[in-house]
Parts: sequence; C-alpha cells; structure tokens
Amino acid sequence: MDYGLTEEQMMIRDVCKQLAEEKIKPIREHYDEANEFPSEILSAFAQADLCGLYIDEKYGGMGGGVMDLVVAVEELSKVCSGIALSIAATALGAFPIVLFGTDEQKEKYLTRVATGECLAAFGLTEANAGSDAGAIATTAVLDGDEYVINGTKQWITNGGEAEIYTVLAKTDKTKGSRGASCFIIEKGTPGFTFGKKENKMGIRASSTRELIFQDCRIPKENLLGREGAGFLVAMKTFDTSRPGVAAQALGIAAGALDEAVAYSRQRRQFGKPISSFQGVQFMLADMATKVEAARALVYQVARHVDSGAKNVSKESAMAKMYASDVAMSVTTDAVQILGGYGYMKEYPVEKMMRDAKITQIYEGTNQIQREVIALNLIKEDARKK
Ligand SMILES: Cc1cc2nc3c(=O)[nH]c(=O)nc-3n(C[C@H](O)[C@H](O)[C@H](O)COP(=O)(O)OP(=O)(O)OC[C@H]3O[C@@H](n4cnc5c(N)ncnc54)[C@H](O)[C@@H]3O)c2cc1C
Repeated sequence: MDYGLTEEQMMIRDVCKQLAEEKIKPIREHYDEANEFPSEILSAFAQADLCGLYIDEKYGGMGGGVMDLVVAVEELSKVCSGIALSIAATALGAFPIVLFGTDEQKEKYLTRVATGECLAAFGLTEANAGSDAGAIATTAVLDGDEYVINGTKQWITNGGEAEIYTVLAKTDKTKGSRGASCFIIEKGTPGFTFGKKENKMGIRASSTRELIFQDCRIPKENLLGREGAGFLVAMKTFDTSRPGVAAQALGIAAGALDEAVAYSRQRRQFGKPISSFQGVQFMLADMATKVEAARALVYQVARHVDSGAKNVSKESAMAKMYASDVAMSVTTDAVQILGGYGYMKEYPVEKMMRDAKITQIYEGTNQIQREVIALNLIKEDARKK
C-alpha cells in the first residue's frame, strides 16, 4: 500500500532493507545465541546516517522526526529487532534531551548521538518501581555545584554500551512523582558502574543491564528541565518513543509474515504446497490484515506526534499496544504455519516469537497502555460536558 512516504523516508527504508539483508541477517543468529551486543554494526548504522534521523540538523542530525525513526526501526526489525533496538533505545535515551535540553546540552550530547559516535539509554525502572514509576528510590541531592546520585536502575537497554544516560532520580522524596527529576549522566563518571548483564528470552543481541550509582557526582548543569519535572519528562519521552516500540513490533510481525508466506509455498504435504490449504490461507490472510492495520495506525500516530499536537499520549499508547499485540499473535501463527520446523532454531520465526514478547512489556506494559488510553478517553469526555 502507498503510505505517502516522502522521498527521504523511502530512501531510509531502502537503505535499512539493504543493511538488514547484507549486514544483519548473516550475524543475527550468532548474536542471539551468544547473548552479545554486535558493536561492529554501529559503524554501519553511522555510515548509513541512521543515528540522527530525529535530531535537528543544527546538532548534526538529519532533521527528521518520529516517522523517519519508525520507518528505519520497522525495516531493521523485520530481520533482527534485537539489533535494531540499539537505535530505538538510543532514541528513548536521547528524546529527553531533544524535548527538554538546553542549547548547550543539545550541542554537547545530541551531536555525539547524531554522528553515531555513541549510543544513549534511558534509566527509569528499578527493582521496586516498574509500572509504578513514581516509586523510584534513586536519589539526587544537590551539594554545591553538583548533584550526588545514589541508587540502582534495573533492566536498562543499551546498559554498558551507551555513553549517555538520561536517568530519573528523586530530588524530593516527600513529593512522590512530583519529586522526581531527570539527569544526564555520562559513562565513566566516578561512582557510576554497571551490574550484571541479563540473560533474556528474546532481543538477546541487545544489552540489558543495571546502572549502579554510588555517590556519583554530576555537574548541576546536567539537570534536564527543572527540578521536580522528571515525571513529566518521562511521560513526554514515552509519548514520543512509543511509536518506535510499535515500529519494532510491526517490523517483527511483517518479518514473520514474510517467512510464513514463503514457507507455506515451498512446504508440501498431502502432495501439495501447504499454502493451498484453506486452513493455512485463512491464517495468512488474518496475519497480513493485522500487519497492515498496525502499519496504518503506527504511521499515522508517528505523523501525529511529529505534527506537534499537544497531547499524543492516547494515540501513542494505542500504536504501541496494538502493534505489539499484533506482533505476538502474528509470530505465534508464523511458528504454527512452519509446524515443527517453526519450533527449531534453524528457522527465524521462533526468534521472532521470542523477540515479540518484550514489545508487550517494556516502555509500559500493555495493561498500562490500556489505562493511558482509557484515562484519556474519560478526560476527553469530561471536557465535552
Ligand atoms: C528487556 C527489557 C528491557 C527494558 N529496558 C528498559 C529501559 O531501557 N529503561 C527503563 O527504564 N526500563 C526498561 N525496562 C523495564 C520495563 O519498562 C518494565 O519491565 C515495565 O515497565 C514493567 O515493569 P515491571 O517489569 O516491574 O512489571 P510490574 O509493574 O511489576 O507489572 C507486573 C504485571 O502487573 C501488571 N500491572 C502493574 N500495575 C498495573 C496496573 N496499575 N493495572 C493493571 N496491571 C498492572 C503489569 O501490566 C504486569 O503484567 C526493560 C525491561 C525489560 C524486560
């Protein structure tokens, strides 16, 4: 279908398709198996100008927006969403600076992200603060010209690999979520170390680690926005980044659909290709319809976010929720269509099914997305009265 992509977006799609086929496909199985991050792929992303798609040209980026990021992440995720995630998670880490950074902060940090010199990461989650983000216990105490950070962040994507971290910490423990603030913390700052690398079900080429802060002192200029605005920074960041997760999910689903169609045409049973059986055809038809519906929603929401619309929380949550539910259902059906072979590691659909699951969990579980959607619906209705 023609989604009215710009010339630039079509170019991004084509570059990503080629990169995914030539550079990612041959290594995806190895890095999935090894649970290792393919650092060498970063130079390929940088050379293809994929690191600063959503960053202003003033800071060395391509001057695009969320839609450009979505096109890239979808295409790369068709082949390996674990590897593609390094770009999407960098966007998650960089968006707080894009949205709330001062000129100096943007100049200092976004230029490095845009050129592909380094990755970024976003640190909100803690052992006792997942969906309940307001419960974070990490603290930031102003001491002269520095904030002193103490606490541990859990399950941070790009952890250890990224150079730049945007991290939520409490500057006032008495104020709940209104007492949180967001800080930029660089790898290598004394008192900032990394915990164990997680051994995950899927997206295994992506690094997921703890961030440990022990009397870590950072300049007070590294505060993003104002003190107490951390929760707002996080929520606006998620509104902007969730279409990226949706694109990851969409890419996984589209990749699995392609595999299922191709397999169904070559696998023969009862003397015929299995694609000739109506039972299989109906599954393929439903899978393809879900993928197309997800694509239409994700693209439209990405454009809505780029339009500068004031409140995009509901639409952003819808895109993330719907595309990730589609990814889980389509990958599960793809495994079914490949039968026993689908369950084996020699075909990529079992990896796609494992990779799909996380898209229903991170950047807010799909239960939380449904809450966001419903609360916005209720607010909108109340405003009408
Ligand atoms: C691989 C991976 C990478 C991640 N990357 C990052 C990252 O880069 N940065 C970061 O900050 N975090 C990251 N996370 C954390 C992720 O965002 C959280 O796991 C997620 O928000 C859910 O939190 P939780 O796991 O503590 O689940 P919990 O909040 O404990 O939820 C458990 C279950 O209860 C449900 N639940 C909780 N509250 C409600 C409610 N109010 N209503 C209905 N149901 C509810 C949930 O939906 C879920 O099903 C990552 C996690 C993983 C696994």
